[in-house]
Amino acid sequence: MWDLAPLNERQIQLVLGTLLGDGNLSRTSGIAGVYNSTHSSKQHEYNLAKYQILSEFCNNPPKIIVNRGYGKFSSRWYTRSLPIFAYLYTLIYPNGRKTVTQDWLEHLTTEGLAWWYLDDGTLCRGRKATIATNSFNELELKLLVQHLRVKRGLETSYFLDKRGYWTLFFPPLTTRALLQLIRPFTPPSMQYKLAWAPRLCTTCGNEVLPPSRGSSCSVACRRATRQKARQKYESDPINREKKAQQARRHYLENLEQLRARGRETAQRYRENHRAEMRQRGHERYQQLKDDPAFRVQRTENLRRYYQTVRNDPERWAARRAAANARRNALRRNDPAWREKQIQRVREWRAKQALPPTLSSVSSTPA
Ligand SMILES: [Zn+2]
Repeated sequence: MWDLAPLNERQIQLVLGTLLGDGNLSRTSGIAGVYNSTHSSKQHEYNLAKYQILSEFCNNPPKIIVNRGYGKFSSRWYTRSLPIFAYLYTLIYPNGRKTVTQDWLEHLTTEGLAWWYLDDGTLCRGRKATIATNSFNELELKLLVQHLRVKRGLETSYFLDKRGYWTLFFPPLTTRALLQLIRPFTPPSMQYKLAWAPRLCTTCGNEVLPPSRGSSCSVACRRATRQKARQKYESDPINREKKAQQARRHYLENLEQLRARGRETAQRYRENHRAEMRQRGHERYQQLKDDPAFRVQRTENLRRYYQTVRNDPERWAARRAAANARRNALRRNDPAWREKQIQRVREWRAKQALPPTLSSVSSTPA
């Protein structure tokens, strides 16, 4: 463990967090060092908030100075030259270069994370946070990403920006978690860096969170949105007419197909429901058979049906054949009918004066 007395916990987190960002340490002699914080003059108020935490180690408050680099004016303050900062320098600048190490990250709490984000973080369109990590190399970024995942549960990644600097990237859900974590440690002047822009569900008004996309928070809400849109579309008479025209055109263009499909369906239904249909028809006939209007209609229907069948010679022949077969089958099993036939043959033969045959004498069925 690093022994960072006389700094208290709050001061330690400010120093460790901002050293990941804009903070700077320098050695003034073998045994003493200085911590300094420099921002653009626009962030003077924020710099003042940082100064107030470490003010017991400083002689002078932040000053606006002329800066030849970025922005025309900067806000800057220094601590006094103290041994603690020389000690920190040896830990954080092991080879004279600021280097991210496992030890450093282990001493960082959520408060330190907040200072880091406030120093170098940007919130893009209210949903995606990035932290400029310009001074670190890829190895150090891997360390940072791993630390955030393991210790804070924040899934992040990193990329090279247009100018060729490494940047740490927080996807929306992670950004939301990060902002919630660091909110308690954020001074009022920096609240703008935490302005999360929630995307609201257009149906229920709840926040839409990944993996949901678009403007609905759930499958049910998306369905409701679509249904509303459809209702709105169909409530317009012009659209209704357009749709009806489309349906008509489709019907006319595919008439043969549609009819074939209908016949097929009916056929299948008849095959599967024959007994049921017969029973239903029978019941209906029993109900209506004494109704004169029904009888007229039925006679007419039958007449038309027979007409249709008669007009088709093949169908007519098939029906006749079937009827004959049915009748012959009935008669073959009827002894009285058989006897009568034999009698008739016998009479005919007597009339013709022919001798009786074996079959016309026998009265037993074949
Ligand atoms: Zn919803």
